[in-house]
Amino acid sequence: MSLRIGRRPRVERGEKYDLVIVGGGPAGLSAAVYAARLLLKTVVLSIDVGGQLNWTEWIDDYPGFTKIKASELINKFREHAESSGVKVVTGVEVIDVKREGDLFKIAGRGGTEVYAKTVILAVGSRRRKLGVPGEDKFQGRGVSYCSVCDAPLFKGKSAVAVVGGGDAALEGAIMLSGYVGKVYLIHRRDSFRAKPALVEDAKRRTNIEFVLNSVVTEILGEEEVKAVKVKGPKGEAVVEVDGVFVEIGQEPPTELFRRIGVETDEQGYVKVGEWMETSIPGMFAAGDATSLWRGFRQVVTAAAMGAVAAYSAYQYLLERGLLGEGK
Ligand code: NAP
Repeated sequence: MSLRIGRRPRVERGEKYDLVIVGGGPAGLSAAVYAARLLLKTVVLSIDVGGQLNWTEWIDDYPGFTKIKASELINKFREHAESSGVKVVTGVEVIDVKREGDLFKIAGRGGTEVYAKTVILAVGSRRRKLGVPGEDKFQGRGVSYCSVCDAPLFKGKSAVAVVGGGDAALEGAIMLSGYVGKVYLIHRRDSFRAKPALVEDAKRRTNIEFVLNSVVTEILGEEEVKAVKVKGPKGEAVVEVDGVFVEIGQEPPTELFRRIGVETDEQGYVKVGEWMETSIPGMFAAGDATSLWRGFRQVVTAAAMGAVAAYSAYQYLLERGLLGEGK
């Protein structure tokens, strides 16, 4: 049976690959480029392309580009993988990977089913939620998890809150300050893990108010967000806002890893060795989903992990005499 997944390209049910890469962010697409150079029959299966690059606007620390739009950089990654001969199939949410004899069976929601001799998990991470009352109710009705995607929708509004103290929160607050009257940057500590240059930029903007040592305890509204309850050093206060941007980082897709049965660290990231090998022979991992370099998530480190994982998949096949058609 032929399965059509999203638009083109697509995979055939039961198709067999040397390598299936799960995830189309910088790690997965970089792995694809290297896998093609190593002549591995490879496909990338992913919900979409871009990974974390979809949540940011500009990249100014990827070597070779002094400043490039994140969307342009990921398109370049994709073009490079595809022009090397790797199919990048989007619209596929992989829900399980299981060994069946000599192969892995990779199952996607909706019936996708392909087989591979090796697998690279490059599934990234997902947005962390605050877990406060009102958050789910108002998602898409004032609550957003991506400032750089949704800021223009708030043009002309009186005030918004941005929660977090990392690069995403500071970048989001700066961008939003150009669209709305006032931005409350609410952070649970009084120092930031964001780049100092972003913090300085935010401090220079007169319409960004820093609300420090404070946490959001509830999001209030009727049809749409109207206010947030904030608990700080002086007690709890209700602050009127038209939107809440939750920019508090990411967490790994732990249920998927549990289903696959791959070993994870105490925070749920896939444990990898220096060659990106996981606890399951023939399965490798790369990028934000892994335990490696966890405090330093960069496009360049994700891409490096992807390259190493592809090389390791190749070595795994080479050492076992599994390279080539029909093996
Ligand atoms: P992050 O660096 O992990 O920062 C998350 C922030 O949210 C931290 O300040 C953290 O507080 C806070 N936080 C976490 N859980 C919270 C909770 N339950 N309630 C309240 N606050 C909470 O995440 P990120 O800012 O999304 O960035 C992720 C990665 O992408 C980073 O590597 C970053 O450098 C990169 N990035 C880069 C750019 C850029 O270069 N332009 C833009 C966006 C993202 P604590 O500090 O107290 O832990």
